[in-house]
Amino acid sequence: MSQPRKIYEGKAKVIFDGPKNGTLIQYFKDDATAFNAKKFDVLDGKGEINNLISEFIMKKIGEKGIPTHFLERINKREQLILDCNIIPLEVVIRNIAAGSICSRLGVQPGLKFREPLIEFYYKNDELEDPIVNDSHINLLEWSTPSEMEKIKVFAFGVNKILSKLFFSVDITLIDFKLEFGRVKTDNRLVVADEISPDSCRLCDTTSQEKFDKDVFRFDTGDLVSAYRKLARRLGIILK
Ligand code: UDP
Repeated sequence: MSQPRKIYEGKAKVIFDGPKNGTLIQYFKDDATAFNAKKFDVLDGKGEINNLISEFIMKKIGEKGIPTHFLERINKREQLILDCNIIPLEVVIRNIAAGSICSRLGVQPGLKFREPLIEFYYKNDELEDPIVNDSHINLLEWSTPSEMEKIKVFAFGVNKILSKLFFSVDITLIDFKLEFGRVKTDNRLVVADEISPDSCRLCDTTSQEKFDKDVFRFDTGDLVSAYRKLARRLGIILK
């Protein structure tokens, strides 16, 4: 059998042609990057655990009525997804201040926002993903005001579902990033990419132990062990 054609290679995943029209294969690599790829390593087991965690989360939000690109997990490293036109935005929801909002705005890390805060970044590595607002998004035609309304409803909805899910295993969802796409066959808006500890900040509600990429960003421990511990807490893996 011939190898599927590679369509795109990103920092943590590779996208291949899918077996059927309108589908793609998303392959999770072991590569870890941070600070816009200025820090890089290959971590054995990272791709497999992120594939499992992202499958679990995409299914959870799908069950609660938020559409996603996820169709099924094919094997340890690959999942079948819907072929989408990706909207060039990173949608970030913050419950507690951490990371770039602290350095950009001088906000105290750990500040709990009165309600979830939403931000948009233009997906562009050369420009280092600059922050943008609804006006940029509308006038530069990355999305429309009516689609943005849906994106906000879905993003806040995902936050509610995931905050509750993590809270049930004593984990706090500090912030996370989503990407959205329009399904090529019918133009439906769906949550795309992955939702994993690579794209969330998560910590133990009591001990503040971290289960996210900050472990790699700041060299505070073994990233794959932290991700596996998270997966065990969620009941995704047994050991
Ligand atoms: N994030 C991501 N991909 C990016 C940028 C951010 O998944 O390219 C996630 C990040 O892991 C965190 C949230 O979005 O959970 C907010 O990130 P922030 O803006 O604080 O940027 P950072 O300082 O983490 O790069």
